[in-house]
Amino acid sequence: MSNPTSPPLPGQPHVARHGDLLQVEQVSLEALAREHGTPLFVYSKQWMLDALAAYQRGFEGRDALVCYAMKANSSLGILRVFAKAGCGFDIVSGGELARVLAVGAEPSKIIFSGVGKTRGEMRQALAAGIGCFNVESEEELDVLNEVAVAEGQRAKVSIRINPNVDPKTHPYISTGLKGNKFGIAHDRALHAYRHAASLPGLQVVGIDCHIGSQITEASPYLDALERVLDLVEAIEAAGIALHHIDFGGGLGIDYNGDTPPAADALWKQLLARIDARGFGGRKLIIEPGRSMVGNAGVCVTEVLYTKPGEDKNFCIVDAAMNDLPRPAMYQAFHRIVPVSARGQGEAQTYDVVGPVCESGDWIGRDRLLNVRSGDLLAVLSAGAYCMSMASNYNTRNRAAEVLVSGDRATLIRRRETFEDQLRNELAGSD
Ligand SMILES: *Cc1c(COP(=O)(O)O)cnc(C)c1O
Repeated sequence: MSNPTSPPLPGQPHVARHGDLLQVEQVSLEALAREHGTPLFVYSKQWMLDALAAYQRGFEGRDALVCYAMKANSSLGILRVFAKAGCGFDIVSGGELARVLAVGAEPSKIIFSGVGKTRGEMRQALAAGIGCFNVESEEELDVLNEVAVAEGQRAKVSIRINPNVDPKTHPYISTGLKGNKFGIAHDRALHAYRHAASLPGLQVVGIDCHIGSQITEASPYLDALERVLDLVEAIEAAGIALHHIDFGGGLGIDYNGDTPPAADALWKQLLARIDARGFGGRKLIIEPGRSMVGNAGVCVTEVLYTKPGEDKNFCIVDAAMNDLPRPAMYQAFHRIVPVSARGQGEAQTYDVVGPVCESGDWIGRDRLLNVRSGDLLAVLSAGAYCMSMASNYNTRNRAAEVLVSGDRATLIRRRETFEDQLRNELAGSD
């Protein structure tokens, strides 16, 4: 294949234009759309491996475990890449546990987060032999204890602390402030640890926090770090040993000129503080999601209609809020670029919208595009929190997914069919 004639797209070094056409690594998006139809998610394997490598560089020489927060993208083909690379996984449901076990993840490298674990999920995770439960409330400690005792096991636990720091991100994705449902308040932590240590079905192994998502500055991490280490000191002074410290995930990606610190640079800075406070030898865990897959993926969609309006022009595409829920959910921004640079005529400003019957079904607003019906667009930064949040709203089939590695493209999810959708439904009878 030819060398790129244009530099890679911002934040996505493995997406570039070769001649007129956009490619992911060495594979043309137009060719993939022709073969698999649209909407179509396409991921660069190299981007994911590079993202993981940045964390691994940051932790070189340390006892550290990267647990990919798989809710960002839980497709089996994505999980397999990380499992083969030796990653652990951060799961938030029994369904996610079933998925990672299906790709051969090592159970001891699985940690289970989430505020609402059911007894059934606890039993499932104990039976699998996961590495740690990240417990988020005092009641959950009691329930997990009961379940573990009934199963004749001791559950390894870490308590999720809410450090009450502002991650300076969108309120819906900030999780470490007092008003959030997540974690146990900083000033209840010692009490909760004493309680956990007294329960026969639990074995305290660590402490964790996760302050939010799409964080683009180091300072919230540094603030949370100091608060967590203060607690580690207090908990250990009370005679409860903490084997590991888990700092969660949350590092942002470049969606629209965002400039988050690089993973290795961030961790160099954090490790300097950890060392200075004497915790350099402690086992460290992190739970990155978005920063492991977000800019690996694009969503290719076809323009169905352009519709001029008095106030606005609309570009109606075949991807919608059920495929790309982030704009509707968080007013999130995704760059949108034409797959072919061959556009004829004049660029106009459009709202790019999907076919779903909701005014909230928009993908991008006020975008200058030179398009007409039948053209393909690529919605960028679509690797995280898109397919994993996709739904069947409006009885739309969920998209297909392709994983690209070099010049090879592998279908990792077939496009859903109406038969798939109707499989479990019963219309009933009179
Ligand atoms: C969602 C989540 C993560 C990952 O967050 P990202 O912003 O995608 O890195 C990590 N830990 C927990 C507990 C989460 O809920």
